[in-house]
Amino acid sequence: MSDATARVLVIGAGPAGLATARALLGHGVPYDHVERHASVGGIWDIEAPGSPMYDAAHLISSRTMSGFDGYPMPDDYPDYPNHRLVLAYLRAFADAYGLTGRIRFGVQVERVTAAPGGGFEVRLDDGTTTRYEAVVCCPGMQWNESMPTLPGEFAGVLRHSRTYRSADEVAGRRVLVLGGGNSACDIAVDASRTAARVVLSMRRGYWFIPKHLFGLPSDVFAASGPHLPVRVQQVAFQGALRLLLGDPRKVGLQRPEHRLFETHPVLNSSLHPALQHGDVVARPGVAAVDGLRVTFTDGRSEEVDEIIAATGYRHGIPYATEVFGPGRPDLHLTAFSRDHEGLFAVGLIETNSGAYGHLDGVAQLVAAHLDDRVHDPERYRRFRDLVRTDHPDLSSGIRFDGSPRHEGYVDADAFTRYRRRIVERMGWSTRLPERVPVQAGARPST
Ligand SMILES: Cc1cc2nc3c(=O)[nH]c(=O)nc-3n(C[C@H](O)[C@H](O)[C@H](O)COP(=O)(O)OP(=O)(O)OC[C@H]3O[C@@H](n4cnc5c(N)ncnc54)[C@H](O)[C@@H]3O)c2cc1C
Repeated sequence: MSDATARVLVIGAGPAGLATARALLGHGVPYDHVERHASVGGIWDIEAPGSPMYDAAHLISSRTMSGFDGYPMPDDYPDYPNHRLVLAYLRAFADAYGLTGRIRFGVQVERVTAAPGGGFEVRLDDGTTTRYEAVVCCPGMQWNESMPTLPGEFAGVLRHSRTYRSADEVAGRRVLVLGGGNSACDIAVDASRTAARVVLSMRRGYWFIPKHLFGLPSDVFAASGPHLPVRVQQVAFQGALRLLLGDPRKVGLQRPEHRLFETHPVLNSSLHPALQHGDVVARPGVAAVDGLRVTFTDGRSEEVDEIIAATGYRHGIPYATEVFGPGRPDLHLTAFSRDHEGLFAVGLIETNSGAYGHLDGVAQLVAAHLDDRVHDPERYRRFRDLVRTDHPDLSSGIRFDGSPRHEGYVDADAFTRYRRRIVERMGWSTRLPERVPVQAGARPST
């Protein structure tokens, strides 16, 4: 739906786009909203072409820590809902705040450029170009796959984990999964249900955090304790993980050479049993590939039919490189363009906790700032000046790994504390719109 007075465009209707739309509505900022797919939900809609979702996918952060402000996930959801429940939740959220009817579906943004005299020109795939004073890009970070360069020629099927949907695809095959992240571990375990053999190759050791600790979702457990300095947390949790899981070398994994939290946490409770049962076999990095034979850095080798590269994604906003630049943009608080007034991205946060609270909070900042443009120009200018010059250290002293995944990585606690400080300093407040009355019996459906 197009609002004749709208000067703001929101691009994308995944969790970040929906949080942004709700925040704009709450602050009374008129906006247009476009989404290239046929419905809301972003990557959580397994039917959305290009989505990296797979049948066995569940939330990695718990439902308790993953709901939007004022709209928690239903109490009868399990601790880690599957992707269908997450999608149902997102759809219910969009309906509850009247966001769905305002979105133009099936419309792809092709290009965003700076307009002469200020604002932005936005070209859509229907051939139209419209000028907006402000653009909020909510593109997601798991659409543009990053493929590894193999050391040799592989004669089997090589594909990215983004294309993996279910274990049926690998029935009876010898599969090698590359990677040490959440998707690599999930997919290796899932594939082992039908594959003839599954090998998981990780270039180094990682810390694995079980999804539950002492009967609580691990993120709920971590949040419920006293707030300890990072160094103390690292020592305490590393010790607890060693006690719980034992020496990783016993199941073929390597010992991590970095401290906990220095790489993105892997939350997984099924990999260790799969390794202990021999359903998945762990190997170090790949040294050479020749035909179907893959040789690992420890000298052992395997013949495999298929390699699934769970090697992450390239970050950036492909349709807006002329304003954001190529690759991951340097944004104040992960959202505000330093170079272009009125240019924002929501959802480009890499952090060691569930993303929803952060992107919801950031969406509120963007909406409050856009509201100031009309109602408090002095504060608008003041914040704009801050965006240009402010480079806070949001690492909490954690020395994040140097890999592309950790570029711009922030510590969740440091980020939240700093965001709240900004809100206080600016005198902003969270504003949520009224909910649309729900019809009797309506609830997230699976
Ligand atoms: C298997 C898996 C499990 C995960 N688990 C968690 C978890 O437990 N907790 C967590 O916090 N995060 C998790 N994530 C991260 C996940 O990315 C976020 O949960 C969330 O989906 C990010 O929301 P988003 O709106 O930023 O991006 P997306 O969900 O990717 O949505 C982006 C939207 O923008 C649209 N779009 C993009 N380009 C255009 C264009 N040019 N024109 C129009 N529309 C466009 C897309 O179609 C899409 O709908 C997980 C990711 C994966 C792959």
